[in-house]
Amino acid sequence: MTRFPEEKVFKDPVHSYIYVSDPLIWDLINTRAFQRLRRIRQLGTSYLTFHGAEHSRFAHALGAYELMRRVLSHFHRNTADWPEDQRLWFLGTAAALLHDLGHGPFSHALEHAFHTRHEEWTIRILLEDPQVSQVLARVDGRFGRDVADIVAGRSEHRLLSALISSQLDVDRIDYLIRDAVATGVNYGKLELDRLIRTLRPYSPGSDRTGSGPAPSGDRDMTVVIKKSGVHTVEQYILARYLMYVQVYLHPVTRGSDILLNLILQRALEVHRQGRLAYVPRPLRPFLDKEPGDLEVAEYLALDEAVLVAAFGEWQAEPDPILADLANRFLDRRLCEYLDYPASRPDLWDELQEAAREAGLDPAYHLALDRIAPSPYYHYTKGISVLDERGRLADLSQWSPLVRALSLQEAVYQRLYVAQDLIRPDAGGDRLRRLLQELRHSS
Ligand code: CA
Repeated sequence: MTRFPEEKVFKDPVHSYIYVSDPLIWDLINTRAFQRLRRIRQLGTSYLTFHGAEHSRFAHALGAYELMRRVLSHFHRNTADWPEDQRLWFLGTAAALLHDLGHGPFSHALEHAFHTRHEEWTIRILLEDPQVSQVLARVDGRFGRDVADIVAGRSEHRLLSALISSQLDVDRIDYLIRDAVATGVNYGKLELDRLIRTLRPYSPGSDRTGSGPAPSGDRDMTVVIKKSGVHTVEQYILARYLMYVQVYLHPVTRGSDILLNLILQRALEVHRQGRLAYVPRPLRPFLDKEPGDLEVAEYLALDEAVLVAAFGEWQAEPDPILADLANRFLDRRLCEYLDYPASRPDLWDELQEAAREAGLDPAYHLALDRIAPSPYYHYTKGISVLDERGRLADLSQWSPLVRALSLQEAVYQRLYVAQDLIRPDAGGDRLRRLLQELRHSS
């Protein structure tokens, strides 16, 4: 396939420039499905906590592509037996560019309300969207399926799969830095160029990289880091951990995600009772159909602008609960939160009863959020270090810092309550007393 005589560039706040020299990548960027990512924020409702977090999934997808381009170029320049294979190059760069194609508006809250999964939608869009699948088919008839398999993590191309999704991949590296830049926090700072340079393709069959016996292609390879890069990777693991506890799992953001989910759930309930006055056209299939029955075009028609406009209309809905929830979101009247001790599961029933007495609907004005350590921020194992003698060991073997982080077992549990709705009279006394008790016990 031909290349542009002069490469095209996107100016980017993280990578300075993003370079595109393949018409294939350019045409993928210009599909409607990819352009839609401009209308979906990378961090969902986080902008209600960190007002700078308005950056789009479009920017992140371009960033992941650019990182893949740099990693593959580094392998190409510094690995003697790196396969000269243009299809491999296209597979890696296209998979990185398109890995988030299936994200919906306010991703996690929407998925929860409508039981959709962005991973499944990414695959469906890759295979079924007429524009995207046609551009991919220009490489060859199997190419779209191969890109989908890499994104789904079920590909024989283990090295590319690991670069898209593993403990150290282009997706996470880009979003950590990008989200740190956008939110204005410093935790996500990384020694990026050096991090890329510590990555090595590795063939388990040979005991060396670079000059060992020629591998039979990238299918036998995986990604490791060289031992001199351990501290650079430690910085990445620490950045990841801090970004999760300080930004991604921020109690205000979790609360606004819960609120958004409750708005959608209430809208769904009111709609099923035939009482929803305003239904935006792109939302109708989500309200009327089972998630498995949605068509790709229907899924792609929904974006954050549609939802936010709907919230504006729903403030005037006859249903007082929906009207109040929508207004809470738009005016940022978020719920109060307090730590909820794991030792008091008995309190939950009493809280719901007291909430009812206090004039609240416990299904919509009271929520419990539980966060357990997940592999996204909780390193257990999965980054292999190659030492000077060609031996492999897990990163935690070489790094006391990473070992210490992997032992951290914190579970957060928080209670969210629409405190401003509590009746000021005696009816609200029991709930007020219980909340007071909780504040003192944590
Ligand atoms: Ca991503």
